[in-house]
Amino acid sequence: MPQGIITISYIIAALLFIFSLAGLSKQETARRGNVLGIIGMGIALAVTIANAHLDALMYILAAMLIGALIGTRLAVKVEMTGMPELIACLHSFVGFAAVLVGYNSFLRLSMNADAATHGAMLNIELAEIFLGVFIGAVTFTGSIIAFGKLRGLIKSKALMLPGKNILNLLAIIASLTLMGFFIYEGGSMVYLAIVTAIALLLGLHLVASIGGADMPVVISMLNSYSGWATAAAGFMLSNNLLIVTGAIVGSSGAILSYIMCQAMNRSFIAVIAGGFGNEKASAQEVEEGEYREIIPEEVAEILKSSENVIIAPGYGMAVAQAQYSVADISRKLREMGINVRFAIHPVAGRLPGHMNVLLAEAKVPYDIVLEMDEINEDFASTDTVLVIGANDTVNPLAQEDPSSPIAGMPVLEVWKGKNVIVFKRSMSAGYAGVPNPLFYKENARMCFGNARDTLDRILKAM
Ligand code: NDP
Repeated sequence: MPQGIITISYIIAALLFIFSLAGLSKQETARRGNVLGIIGMGIALAVTIANAHLDALMYILAAMLIGALIGTRLAVKVEMTGMPELIACLHSFVGFAAVLVGYNSFLRLSMNADAATHGAMLNIELAEIFLGVFIGAVTFTGSIIAFGKLRGLIKSKALMLPGKNILNLLAIIASLTLMGFFIYEGGSMVYLAIVTAIALLLGLHLVASIGGADMPVVISMLNSYSGWATAAAGFMLSNNLLIVTGAIVGSSGAILSYIMCQAMNRSFIAVIAGGFGNEKASAQEVEEGEYREIIPEEVAEILKSSENVIIAPGYGMAVAQAQYSVADISRKLREMGINVRFAIHPVAGRLPGHMNVLLAEAKVPYDIVLEMDEINEDFASTDTVLVIGANDTVNPLAQEDPSSPIAGMPVLEVWKGKNVIVFKRSMSAGYAGVPNPLFYKENARMCFGNARDTLDRILKAM
């Protein structure tokens, strides 16, 4: 295929990816954004395949077929609540691919040593390979740990090795030194293998050191790393589209991580440095006291006599698939002339925008779904607050206990409402593993059970 056509197709695909991202930034245009992304990816694949050597074509098609079968099956099967795990898993593939591309490029370079590039160009290629392998390996193991934490296979609590910051720093200094030797000596498999091992361990350690409630930032950070790993692979393969796409993913992931850190009152640098400064954080005891139970039929009565209601949904609503029942209750209350609004915490659920997606799916109007900053001051003047499967995002300890792992994280101040009704199945802690004193407050009532069942009982009683 002529180089001109390839270049133009790659530019068109890159533009489509940019328009796709722009579309995905608003609920109303998200579908269009998705379609543009699919067209861009279709063009990129078609051109890459058309441009492949004939003898490589069989391998590419076979790999694509296997990948497409696995991908389609996963995409059809995955629940919304399983999306973050799937994303973490996909990031690990990107990291692994970058490592393989790095080794492949190095072998190709060493085999063609006589005909190959010299001088500055050789140094640049070696640096690309070294960095690509390093970023790829960190992304690979970091994503595996993130997957384990999200799946619940690994405890979400932060790993606190003694001197953990020194260990990270040593790993980075050692890698930079090795990079110097690697380039100076014109490339060596030994250095590449050592840095791979260091980067694999660093990825493990960085993500394991970050506590449960900071996981959202880790996911967007790994997203960003996977983008840089892709860009590095693009440099090694001299593929402009991979470089552009990788840079888009890398920088948008970094911006998202920064925004999430601000929303959670965390230092961006501290989080990307593997929970730097978290050393004192530990799960603590709260004075438990007594909690009061309420049954759904009583909740229905309280709701009917309220003028203002705020619903604060969380991960439990997603698990119970209770968004349709929540939407029906809010519709019914609005028909009765009651002012109903939704309060969305930036990290409620298990992925950014999780609650917004579920509520949109259940056709809750966008204008009654408010972000935390827009509604937090209104809890004090609200008659009834329904906390549906939310826990960490409504935990007053974040404000009350500076030694808590969630200290400083902004939370929905639901406890200021006149009546607070918490829907969950037990008294167990949320994702961060921190106890929640909200449940023992004077104005709080616990409505136990699977959220969908309890909400359906409320609907029936109404
Ligand atoms: P939490 O994960 O803190 O708590 C969810 C609660 O839902 C649990 O306490 C659980 O209690 C309850 N629950 C689970 N299943 C059901 C069910 N079927 N019916 C009723 N209740 C149920 O939720 P939040 O949304 O408040 O907080 C999100 C947490 O996840 C934060 O710590 C955040 O940092 C983290 N996180 C967020 C990500 C994001 O991007 N948004 C990504 C990764 C992590 P019980 O078992 O008693 O029912």
